[in-house]
Amino acid sequence: MSPVRALLWRGPGAALEIEPILLPPPGPKEVRVHIRAAGVCHSDLSMVNGTLAPPYPLVLGHEAAGVVTAAGPEASVAVGAHVVLNWAPPCRRCWFCGNGQPWLCETAGAPTAARGATADGEPLHVTLGLGALAEEVVVGDHAVIPVPAELPFATAALLGCAVLTGVGAVHRTASVQPGESAVVIGLGGVGLSTVMAAHAAGADPLIAVDVSDAKRELAVSAGATHFLVSGDDLSAQVRGLTERRGADHSFECVGRSATIRAAWRATRRGGQVTVVGMGAKDDMVSLAALDIFHSARTLRSSVYGNSDPDRDVPALAHQVLDGSLDPAALITDRITLDESPEAFARMSRGEGARTVILFP
Ligand SMILES: [Zn+2]
Ligand SMILES: [Zn+2]
Repeated sequence: MSPVRALLWRGPGAALEIEPILLPPPGPKEVRVHIRAAGVCHSDLSMVNGTLAPPYPLVLGHEAAGVVTAAGPEASVAVGAHVVLNWAPPCRRCWFCGNGQPWLCETAGAPTAARGATADGEPLHVTLGLGALAEEVVVGDHAVIPVPAELPFATAALLGCAVLTGVGAVHRTASVQPGESAVVIGLGGVGLSTVMAAHAAGADPLIAVDVSDAKRELAVSAGATHFLVSGDDLSAQVRGLTERRGADHSFECVGRSATIRAAWRATRRGGQVTVVGMGAKDDMVSLAALDIFHSARTLRSSVYGNSDPDRDVPALAHQVLDGSLDPAALITDRITLDESPEAFARMSRGEGARTVILFP
């Protein structure tokens, strides 16, 4: 089998490198996908910056779209299908799948899986069962979702993580209603997608917050009515925009205790705090017991947007094609695989929204 090129992490302290890797042939219910576009998501950065502690060597990437080039004899997807990759494919058999919460499937969303090998035969791990920052992947047929061929690959890629997560957090987890106020903290790809979805849901005021003033223009074009640079007085500023109460909804799209507490404080009594960002296991969130009782806020997380990707990704694809959803606005950089290490450097500096790697 001929090697394909992939973005590899060889452990703490190692620079990200493009290396040839060897993929296994697809099993009976597996497919091989030629990746055409892949987003660089903050969760990939969390794999390599110490937030998580995955095994290595590790192929990065979990937000991608491409074309099926080979399929096992029992695979449900045909060669030639355009597909979006799904990093949390539900089993459809466990208790959670049977109870309408496939995003909590017992088998879905493991941080890494063993697959393939380096060119010199060392066993590889792949991010979220995919390892999508590579020219090709081999995955189970339930980890790909067919989409219309006219959907641009770069847009399709984003549907598989940032857009499904942001849209799902707003519509499925928090159920934002027209005229409700919302705060979105952290304006990476997921945060901006959350702003876009909250705008579509009619949130007003819709307050976007980031550490960098450079995100102002992106936030406003995504539909934010206000933009704030985060600081100690964030909750006071939000109260100033929400008749002194605080927001009906807050969305934390960073995954840090400090921003979860900021989201909590910016929310009104009885309001809802939705944690979208994936944080570290030792980053403890401290809330006063009296505050939890008195504020009557709801604090919950949104895992993969509380979505069923097999149902919701095709629906989002149709919204893109009919013009009611424009995730392409989230893409600030389009680059080649060789330029991908620099995209991680940009993301760790908090620059840009989504970088998408395009493959020939
Ligand atoms: Zn992601
Ligand atoms: Zn399941």
